[in-house]
Amino acid sequence: MVFRGIGSLRFLLRAAIVGLCLSGGNALTQTLPLPSNLINFNSREGSQLLLESNAREDYWPLSIQFVTQNSQSFCGVASMVMVLNSLAIPAPQDPRYSPYRVFTQEDFFNNEQTRKVLSPDIVMRQGMTLDQLGQLLATHPVDVQVHHAGDLTINEFRQRVVENLQQPNNFVLANYLRKAIGEEKGGHISPIAAYNQQTDRFLILDVSRYKYPPVWVKATELWQAMLAVDSVSGKTRGFVLVKRKE
Ligand code: CA
Repeated sequence: MVFRGIGSLRFLLRAAIVGLCLSGGNALTQTLPLPSNLINFNSREGSQLLLESNAREDYWPLSIQFVTQNSQSFCGVASMVMVLNSLAIPAPQDPRYSPYRVFTQEDFFNNEQTRKVLSPDIVMRQGMTLDQLGQLLATHPVDVQVHHAGDLTINEFRQRVVENLQQPNNFVLANYLRKAIGEEKGGHISPIAAYNQQTDRFLILDVSRYKYPPVWVKATELWQAMLAVDSVSGKTRGFVLVKRKE
């Protein structure tokens, strides 16, 4: 009886290990399921919303520079790299691409001014706040406007972001709480690429491409996710507008 018991136990353990490996494999190779309030950009409906958008000027430059964040706390760095490359701001040199110059998540902190604002070690540990995102951008020749959601109405938010999305050579970075739009789960930063006026939805090019596809999110839901207070800063999240210095 004891022998049979151990045999059964081994069988169960083996089955459990195989099961773990299979579920682990799925988790590694597939993005998470989307909640029903979000529209996957990689769908017929999602692509149609872009085709019908009248505020999509930023989609093309950003899509050319679209990168995956290097670590789970590097969403802000990846988002800045996309915007700074889209604006053709003079870039540092990543030895991998020498003599060419381009912003990468590896060379972003090769700049004394940038490291004075925030060290890459801190970003690696805890990411960054909305104000730190603005301060890091401001170490480059760009004009930066930081807007905490708590300082604006939803109509002001929609108007400023849509206006930007209709103009070339300026960009919007969003800082929001994922949980508030039904995603997993904490604070996040990614560029906004377009707005669809019929559905009142914004397209977020999510830099955690291993986790979620780009999504169309209702302006009201994104607004709620920006109104969430960041426990590190004690302030609401929000968005940053960036353009070249004139
Ligand atoms: Ca723009």
